[in-house]
Amino acid sequence: MAFELPKLPYAYNALEPTIDARTMEIHHTKHHNAYVTNLNNAIAGKPEEKMSIEDICKNISKSPVAVRNNGGGHFNHSLFWTIMKPKGGGEPSGELGDAIQGTFGSFADFKTQFGNAGATRFGSGWAWLSVSAGKLVISSTPNQDNPLMDVAEVKGTPILGLDVWEHAYYLHYQNRRPDYITAFWSVINWDEVSRRFMAAK
Ligand code: MN
Repeated sequence: MAFELPKLPYAYNALEPTIDARTMEIHHTKHHNAYVTNLNNAIAGKPEEKMSIEDICKNISKSPVAVRNNGGGHFNHSLFWTIMKPKGGGEPSGELGDAIQGTFGSFADFKTQFGNAGATRFGSGWAWLSVSAGKLVISSTPNQDNPLMDVAEVKGTPILGLDVWEHAYYLHYQNRRPDYITAFWSVINWDEVSRRFMAAK
């Protein structure tokens, strides 16, 4: 079955002023849509056609580079849209809040480390918070790779991801990636990140 572009769970302008409507619309209807189209073309008639996107990622070393780039792009953006929401932000509570404090010392320390992962990723890529063997871990990946992939330096189940490709922020922030990363904290949907944490640990 062919993969499909998921609908955004909010309007294109819902994350303003953090992420402007034009960026969201281009990002979703052009960039993500192209990953879906190119993924479907790359897997037509291949074993990946019958696999979930998660299983494709977990076995990505066996797939051609077009599947790695576009399958990663599809998985990553599908996650990215859900972990943001209008009037998001604040701090996670419950088990996720406790785990962040226990792992990184404090929420502020976590923000610093995650922000650094995004800011220091050279070129295009992602910053991640993942669950690996029941523990939280921060990492970053190049291009459209992700921690699910068997080729990832740091493997795990991603529960929070930040797209640091220029296409994610350039219209509003131009070269100021650190400003985009700082603003990102105000749109995070911690309920969704917590849900993913409980499912992954
Ligand atoms: Mn993107």
